[in-house]
Amino acid sequence: MTSRRQCLDPEEIHRYGRHLLLPELGMEGQQRIKGTRVLLVGAGGLGSPAALYLAAAGIGHLTVVDFDVVDVTNLQRQVLHGTRDVGRLKVESARDRLRDLNPHVSVEIVPDRLDAGNALGLVSGHDLVLDGTDSFATRYLVSDACVLAGKPNVHASIYRFEGQATVLSTPDAPCYRCLYPSPPAPGEVPSCSEAGVLGVLPGLLGTIQATEALKLAAGIGEPLSGRLLLVDALSMRFRTMQVGRDPRCPACGTRTIRELREEAFACEAIPPGARVPEITPVELAERVARGDALTLLDVREPHEWEITRIPGARLAPLSRLGDELARLDPARELVVYCRSGVRSQEAGRRLVAAGFTRVFSLAGGILRYDAEFRLHG
Ligand SMILES: [Zn+2]
Repeated sequence: MTSRRQCLDPEEIHRYGRHLLLPELGMEGQQRIKGTRVLLVGAGGLGSPAALYLAAAGIGHLTVVDFDVVDVTNLQRQVLHGTRDVGRLKVESARDRLRDLNPHVSVEIVPDRLDAGNALGLVSGHDLVLDGTDSFATRYLVSDACVLAGKPNVHASIYRFEGQATVLSTPDAPCYRCLYPSPPAPGEVPSCSEAGVLGVLPGLLGTIQATEALKLAAGIGEPLSGRLLLVDALSMRFRTMQVGRDPRCPACGTRTIRELREEAFACEAIPPGARVPEITPVELAERVARGDALTLLDVREPHEWEITRIPGARLAPLSRLGDELARLDPARELVVYCRSGVRSQEAGRRLVAAGFTRVFSLAGGILRYDAEFRLHG
């Protein structure tokens, strides 16, 4: 990404003095930062610190997209908004705060939901996108629009005490679909309002997004592309793993996705009666110890498998389960597991539909197994 350079006026030269002192950044980098247009999707937990630091750093233009209204329970982590903003549109509260922070930044607000109709136009009009959304449907939409428009997608997500960040859709980086070919099954990943989140965690990850956006804008450093940063705030461990492009990805690989469509991300509950029987971690361990003939299938994605897995399992990502069917022995019992036990239910249903009769889903997934048997990742 090469942004245009835009001249600084004397007041800006004074304001950004600490940046200008950095030889790697200097006047040229600051002028490029001023010449950069950023699209910020979501003015919530991730978007708050990202917007504040981008504005403070003198980004030239910031468009903030959010349809939501400030609620008092947002304030535990969405530091862009204040108590007096409760009830206001988040984009309006954001605009006022950002203008106060730095009047040199042009701020545009879009009090709307990003959808298949407006995403490509919005993304195309900017140099880079910062995805601060917590909706899977929107993440796919942002990713597909970034691939189609050829724009970097600075991505992060959070869950309870954990977060991840990466720069997607640069020429050598994967897109979101490469990492997550299919949306999680309904109910698998609860939202912040259901699962809870440590308030400072989106602050940490959103600040990492702002850092990456500024590096891209200024054209300095080594971007977090082709690498996924994993943050565990409880143990305060940071790890990075290599992530690559999937040549079969319909967005950036085969390029079969040529226009935007909203991912059908069903939120309805799994119908009762459609569940495959479950096996507990203890039952599984006992049966493995007894030497029972069973096949243990891990239906998570490869990057999850690389972090930790149950010994003796084989990888068969849910997104590619169809390819695996021919390689499975129908005479053996199948035990399927995922992260928390929801995707494995979906995999189990597909296996049953494909004619496998003895299929079990590991209750609570690898999370519960790990809690009971302490895996070493
Ligand atoms: Zn892709």
